[in-house]
Amino acid sequence: MPEEFPQGPSLEHLRKQAKALLKLSHARNPEAARLLGAYHPAFRGHTSLEILGGPVQLCDTQLAIARQYGFSSWPELKIHIDSLTGGASPAVIPVDTSRIPDPGYRGQLAAQKGLPPVGTVSTSRHGVQYRVVDHGFAMTHASLARAGDNDPIPMIEELLPIISFSGMSRRLTDFYVETDCCTSKQLVFMDSMPGIHPGSTAPGLNQVVTTQDPRYLVFHLDAANLHETILAHELGHVWLEMVEGCEDQRFPRSYADLPRVFQLECIQSFVLDLRVNVLLQGRGFDMAVIDGEQWEGIRDIAAQCERGSRPRTARTAAALINVVAAAMLEYGRWPRDAAQNFHSCLMKIRTALPEVYRAAEAFATSVERHGVADREAICRVIDECARVSFRAAGDDFDPEELRRTVVGPDDVSPYR
Ligand SMILES: [Zn+2]
Repeated sequence: MPEEFPQGPSLEHLRKQAKALLKLSHARNPEAARLLGAYHPAFRGHTSLEILGGPVQLCDTQLAIARQYGFSSWPELKIHIDSLTGGASPAVIPVDTSRIPDPGYRGQLAAQKGLPPVGTVSTSRHGVQYRVVDHGFAMTHASLARAGDNDPIPMIEELLPIISFSGMSRRLTDFYVETDCCTSKQLVFMDSMPGIHPGSTAPGLNQVVTTQDPRYLVFHLDAANLHETILAHELGHVWLEMVEGCEDQRFPRSYADLPRVFQLECIQSFVLDLRVNVLLQGRGFDMAVIDGEQWEGIRDIAAQCERGSRPRTARTAAALINVVAAAMLEYGRWPRDAAQNFHSCLMKIRTALPEVYRAAEAFATSVERHGVADREAICRVIDECARVSFRAAGDDFDPEELRRTVVGPDDVSPYR
């Protein structure tokens, strides 16, 4: 019986689900075997040992996720979401795979698709200058899913500009070069162009993407909206893992309850971003853009409290804890007027959402007690915050279970 399709489905979430399931399969998780056995036609009737003994690939986990929701394939699921979110259906331009190595051919495809040609120099709305140096196929999960066991056949939809940054500040250049030196992979920046790919990315969404090609560390960036500090932030996550050994690579073993998986991921981001921000501030980056986002987040929550609107579920309320706690810890960095208004917003939140306020205080206390200086401290803070967060979500999740239900930090890192 297919699961009920989530309300307001996000392709990003479903991609994360597929990635999570892959990770768990590689960790020989019995729950992953159960899911694959139940929904992947090729694994039906096989034992956990047989399923996890073979090379489970991303396309397998994507197929299982799609089938779980009653779709025949991952591309079908994607088309369905695109239709809901008004995503563009790709222009059908046939790709001759044998000619892809030819830069002239790639340029021709880019022109047909309406992408900016090589050499185009643009400036983001925050003054970051970037130049199109090539066009490449972003190996998305959809392309891997289509491929099955074969090499993925790229689709025109996945052709994106590869960009390089020019006129970077001295500070960013130094950080970029140092980060580049600490991984053996080549850093590749692709402009995800959410304007023409609304189905697969969102404005302001920047991320390091996992690819199957071990040579590259690929960043998908919304170049038109990019700020130097945000680019540094993405590099900062690589730096945290490669130089400071701080990233928390632990992952819940049980895939049975996705909301818990996402809730934990958000807490990891909350804690790790504190560390990334320390790093960026220490290197002299302009934090105004990050401070502005934090302040707007708080102002929005306070405004909603004032209007009398409340989070629909305890878990939605729990998601607000991260926003409030980050502001509590970092508002000292904000400009004076925002910092002054912060307190009146906080009081509104305390009155309307006392449980969110108390939990955010507990988050902040945990960070203040342990700090975020190394992986041990970071993991301890994540554990404590997780405990608070799950309790706030009305979840009787046993705190000790967290330790028992994670994959160790020696799990595969996408950065190495
Ligand atoms: Zn981050």
